[in-house]
Amino acid sequence: KLILVTGVNGFIAAHAVIALLDGGYQVRGTVRSEKSAEIVRKTYSAYADKFSVAVVPDMSVKNAFDEAVKDIHGALHIASPFMLNIKDNESEVLIPAIEGTKNLLASVAAHAPQAKRVVITSSFAAMADFSKGFWPGHTYNEADWNEVTYDYAKTADAVVCYCASKALAEKAAWKFINEQKPHFDLTVLNPPMVFGPAAHVVSLSAMNTSAWDIHRFLSGELEDVPDTGFWGFVDVRDLAVAHVRALEVPEAGNERFFIVSGRYSYQKTADVLRASPLIAEADKKLVPVGKPGQNYPGADIYEVDNSKSKKILGLKYRSFEESIVDAALNMIDVRNKA
Ligand code: NDP
Repeated sequence: KLILVTGVNGFIAAHAVIALLDGGYQVRGTVRSEKSAEIVRKTYSAYADKFSVAVVPDMSVKNAFDEAVKDIHGALHIASPFMLNIKDNESEVLIPAIEGTKNLLASVAAHAPQAKRVVITSSFAAMADFSKGFWPGHTYNEADWNEVTYDYAKTADAVVCYCASKALAEKAAWKFINEQKPHFDLTVLNPPMVFGPAAHVVSLSAMNTSAWDIHRFLSGELEDVPDTGFWGFVDVRDLAVAHVRALEVPEAGNERFFIVSGRYSYQKTADVLRASPLIAEADKKLVPVGKPGQNYPGADIYEVDNSKSKKILGLKYRSFEESIVDAALNMIDVRNKA
């Protein structure tokens, strides 16, 4: 069966592609440029008969995916702008996220009659109610929504704008399904911070945002442990499994899943890295010390509920220690080879 994966050159998509190929699927991945196409063709050269690439230069243009969706049986829509150095909220983030999602769904509806399901990689960003702060006593689950408006997001800071782009894109997707009633159904995955090793071609200068978040702890650039902004995490390898299960499990149709292993903090990140026997002493010296053992998520921070994903998708989650140490070892390797 042929599955379309948008943004196939990214961090999460790379793991999803491996899980799909290992699961016997064929994959057609979209990228924005011929240069990215060349890189991913090389990455998956061992699977040349099962992996192909389609260049979609601008997903916010109507009918952008019309060619790319031909003959697919399902799609993972993973592409979305996730960067924090932006100049124009609308053109760089909000429009591609929202219109890209609508255009993908419209193309599948019009040109992929055999497609059964579209899976969208949304985010905890689409669930979090920032007006509540760290919301002590609350347990986040699939019923929660970030209710930010487009008008507010237009001039908000980069983090709020990114979170809004995910919420508004996901809302647009559910609206499309409810109003158009297409021949396929929708499954949405909402991961928080995604850690773990990279499977795609990475460079220190162009690292995806969540990897950069951890890389700071190993680069020597942090003088102290920063304040934690988001307290949930998941390993990218578990999220990849979630994408495949989301395509396959019948009961996952028209459902939303909070894909979260548990809670963490930046202080815990620093403590785990410095305690790991797998990380060299020279690298540990670069990790800020902060206040070891303090500022862990406690009763003053929201809880996270992953029971639906365990029950319906059958997920098992890696520990924070495994995720963060594997991410660190991968980054140290990239740095040492640079
Ligand atoms: P990456 O930056 O590694 O991947 C993002 C992908 O989206 C790339 O293929 C990128 O293409 C593509 N993309 C970005 N902007 C556009 C655009 N304007 N038009 C078309 N394609 C675009 O990030 P991740 O793998 O971490 O993120 C993948 C998805 O997961 C995103 O939807 C993100 O919102 C979501 N997510 C990520 C989390 C995390 O912690 N990493 C947490 C929760 C959700 P190009 O290389 O050409 O820029």
